[in-house]
Amino acid sequence: MPYDLIVIGSGPGGYVCAIRAAQLGLKTAVIEKNATFGGTCLNVGCIPSKAMLHASELYEEAGDGFAQMGIKVGKPAIDLPALHKYRLGNVDANVKGVAFLFKKNKIDAFFGTGRIAAPGKVEVKAADGATQILETKNIVIATGSDVARLNGIDIDEKRVVSSTGALELPGVPKKLLIVGAGIIGLELGSVWRRLGAEVTIVEFLDHILPGIDREIANSIHRMLQKQGLAFTLSSKVTAVDSSGKMLKVKVEPAAGGAAETLETDVVLVAIGRVPYTEGLGLEALGVNKDNRGRVVVDPHYRTNVDGIYAIGDVIAGPMLAHKGEDEGVAAAEIIAGQAGHVNYDVIPNVVYTRPEIASVGKTEEELKAAGVAYKSGKFPFSANARARANLATEGFVKILADAATDRVLGVHILGPDAETMIAEVAMAMEFGASSEDIARTCHAHPTLSEAMKEAALAVDKRAINM
Ligand SMILES: Cc1cc2nc3c(=O)[nH]c(=O)nc-3n(C[C@H](O)[C@H](O)[C@H](O)COP(=O)(O)OP(=O)(O)OC[C@H]3O[C@@H](n4cnc5c(N)ncnc54)[C@H](O)[C@@H]3O)c2cc1C
Repeated sequence: MPYDLIVIGSGPGGYVCAIRAAQLGLKTAVIEKNATFGGTCLNVGCIPSKAMLHASELYEEAGDGFAQMGIKVGKPAIDLPALHKYRLGNVDANVKGVAFLFKKNKIDAFFGTGRIAAPGKVEVKAADGATQILETKNIVIATGSDVARLNGIDIDEKRVVSSTGALELPGVPKKLLIVGAGIIGLELGSVWRRLGAEVTIVEFLDHILPGIDREIANSIHRMLQKQGLAFTLSSKVTAVDSSGKMLKVKVEPAAGGAAETLETDVVLVAIGRVPYTEGLGLEALGVNKDNRGRVVVDPHYRTNVDGIYAIGDVIAGPMLAHKGEDEGVAAAEIIAGQAGHVNYDVIPNVVYTRPEIASVGKTEEELKAAGVAYKSGKFPFSANARARANLATEGFVKILADAATDRVLGVHILGPDAETMIAEVAMAMEFGASSEDIARTCHAHPTLSEAMKEAALAVDKRAINM
């Protein structure tokens, strides 16, 4: 009997889609070409990077922060092999969790590379070359993304690394040069800087964190500089010479001009990610892709070929695990005849620097460009009692609300535990909340989230503790 659904790829988009489909009674299979389930996120993305960020933050705190609170510990030291073991243990627990969930939901899992031989037919090629054809009524492409490469610069994952190699460096490099001041560059740069590397980040644009609210990006830029990260903005890396003991990196002004050569031990190329569709057979099937190689889908995740859908990093939109997960749920529900939907106006985004950045909705730049009149309310963590107790007073919360209706249009947090605080306002925005609604919601004291309430009060210029 054919499957109702075959999902190609078991990242956050694919595995969640398969589970939701199975919950809805669809006979479901997943195909994964990697040796473990979980995709980029669980194997070489979200999970291992957060393990390294967490450990390196604690290491730094033990070195500097503890003494300020009267805690005496000896000078902390890093045992890098043990740190890597901890990272890999985290990955292992998560990927095994996905295998368990597949079994629990009676999803057939196949290891091998999937190719759509024809609508309704998927070929699975195992690592030993053996092939089989599976029949199905529907196919979801959830093949994700791969690291973007720089022309003429070879990534060997040893000295010139992508994010994958940067998670696994066997020693702390004396000097690390990062190409790209986006989220991944800043997160991994922070990790290795804390562990002792001298980190320089070269960015093409004249500011860091493109797409993030500019006031927040400029503030974290100053904070990261204070922490010891060096930035070279408006510049591009055009070549890496790896013939000598040190790498020689050619850096030119973005607008053109004289190049300079920087020496470094390791180069991390972190200029973004590109959709991955290699070997799927999409060209032969006539599945449409856009000019950036993303599979084109309609609002119901349908490609132009009947019975073939796509979700996650391989389609347009922010390359985020939770965006792919929600699309996976929506696509499974649509295939099962329900009304699945994702609200793209309310997709939170977190940058796990210290302090963290978390945002949802529109930035000030986007509102200005769209000609939307808005009010802004801001509250600094330096005026929040819990942040003071935690010695984590850097940053602020900013709420942007429609000038006429007071509806919340965007929230931007730079500060401690921003990752948790953003959920409150994402929920509020889903319910169409006004800043007044947040301001009148009782927030426990003393908590960091009181800064959210105060920022909401500040929209109407009536913050209490400022
Ligand atoms: C260092 C790093 C840190 C990140 N941190 C975060 C974070 O903190 N939060 C966040 O939201 N996002 C983060 N991301 C992004 C996140 O990992 C991706 O958005 C997410 O994994 C996309 O999910 P996906 O299911 O679309 O694709 P993927 O996770 O890329 O999974 C696709 C899967 O498909 C498989 N596949 C591909 N082709 C085939 C084929 N032909 N046959 C069978 N299998 C195939 C691949 O092997 C892979 O397992 C991070 C990424 C990186 C690199």
